[in-house]
Amino acid sequence: MEKKIYFRLFSIGMLSLVLTATLIIFIFHEIFDQQAKQDIQITAQTLAATCPHLNDCSELSEFIKPDLRITLVSATGTVLFESQKPEEQTMENHLGRPEIRAALETGTGEATRTSKTFGYSSYYYAIRLEDGKVLRISKTVANLYSVYDKALPAIAGVSVGIIILSLILSSVLTRKIIHPIEVMARNLDEIEQHVPYKELEPSARAIKTQQIRRQENERIRREFTANVSHELKTPLTSISGYAEMIKNGMAQEKDIRDFAGKIHVEAARLITLIGDIIKLSELDETNKTPPHFHRIDLSQIVSETVESLSLVASQKEVTLHWEETPAFVQGNKEMLEELVYNLCDNAIRYNNPGGSVTLLLEEKKTEAGPAQVVFQVQDTGIGIPKEHQERIFERFYRVDKSRSKETGGTGLGLAIVKHIALCHQAQIQVQSAPNKGTCIEVIFPQG
Ligand code: ADP
Repeated sequence: MEKKIYFRLFSIGMLSLVLTATLIIFIFHEIFDQQAKQDIQITAQTLAATCPHLNDCSELSEFIKPDLRITLVSATGTVLFESQKPEEQTMENHLGRPEIRAALETGTGEATRTSKTFGYSSYYYAIRLEDGKVLRISKTVANLYSVYDKALPAIAGVSVGIIILSLILSSVLTRKIIHPIEVMARNLDEIEQHVPYKELEPSARAIKTQQIRRQENERIRREFTANVSHELKTPLTSISGYAEMIKNGMAQEKDIRDFAGKIHVEAARLITLIGDIIKLSELDETNKTPPHFHRIDLSQIVSETVESLSLVASQKEVTLHWEETPAFVQGNKEMLEELVYNLCDNAIRYNNPGGSVTLLLEEKKTEAGPAQVVFQVQDTGIGIPKEHQERIFERFYRVDKSRSKETGGTGLGLAIVKHIALCHQAQIQVQSAPNKGTCIEVIFPQG
């Protein structure tokens, strides 16, 4: 970027130099040219007025200035007088010359003849005299090419000076522009205090937001890794403890079955935990490659879930209420099964004996905006205190750790639910009161 700015500034300098030089030379040349033409016309008119008072053409020589040439031509084109040395001039008939012809026809005539090789232009101005003769004055001036030729050393000198100045100025300016940006780039942590140009403020803000997000993600990832390690360690420690006791013969014959049972429970917990972690990491992947969505009847999924959970519910003395009413959403079947299962499972696990879980599915027409499908899981369980309601969707967040563990919870169920809902552009609403129960609603766009 530095090189680019430098090169552009330098190019602008050079372009200005060339354009200005060209324009100045051209304008000046034009002015001189006009001036010369005017001079000649005035001289010609003066001489034409003088001519009738002269006795002989040769008297015209008195008026000769070194840079002027005077020619007197008869009405038939014969040269009667020529101020330049005859050997330098052809004395042939001048009737063919355009300025003479024009003067004979209209009274005055002019012409410019350029000699590129010699770099000179001759300007001719002719006037028909009262006696029919034609008086012609001409002047030879350096043309544009020779002006360049003559001015070339000066132009070259000035140009070299300006080039050197441009190089230095471009370099200084580039540094001035780039330096504050470099300072900003070096201080990304406090980027707001180092924004050098107003135009960079939106970019700086975007960088800051991105940085905060990255830091936040990094923190969540670190926390998650620490939590996973901790969650894995607890069951593994007990498995290892029971196995060691059996190995060392410290367990009595009658305890061995009991210990094996405990090892089995802990191992099952580990398998569930690892299963949930895998589900979450698969869900994280869906951010990069979204799953295929189809039109799905959510009521079918709810019915299947109710069936698979009915045994657990009856063991916990919890009644399930569900009336199948079709409702369609756009979604991924496995993900939706997971979402419905986790919500129903929680409603049973955090319930009281004799309690109930009511599942409701309905299509809602909204006044403004598209129709929605609301899936509601209402229980009469232990409820969630207000201060925890926001956080239950965080990974490994549990209101009551021991109750969660007792019932085989991993602390990841609702994190998975939230992720799936997000994937389906669905919103989640929680209403809960301790000892009264919880109602969780997932609101899908209708599919
Ligand atoms: P867990 O595996 O511990 O159930 P979840 O992510 O499913 O993890 O839920 C997080 C926490 O939210 C639970 O530990 C529990 O404290 C609370 N919770 C979830 N659902 C309910 C519910 N229906 N009633 C009361 N508390 C609930």
